[in-house]
Amino acid sequence: MQNARNKVCGRCGSINLISDRSLGGKIVCVNCGSSYIKTKSIINSGNKKFYYILVILFVIFLVVIV
Ligand SMILES: [Zn+2]
Repeated sequence: MQNARNKVCGRCGSINLISDRSLGGKIVCVNCGSSYIKTKSIINSGNKKFYYILVILFVIFLVVIV
């Protein structure tokens, strides 16, 4: 197994990915054959960043009111 556990297909969202040696080890989706792969950790950090921004906005909102 390749180290593709934390990756998902950016097209269909499938986690069934395979590293194709004929494409130079490029990771492709088994379901739709797409090579557009997203990393789950990027999605998670994006959500964290969004949450962080929300908290900052909430604090600024409180400061403005008080
Ligand atoms: Zn796919």
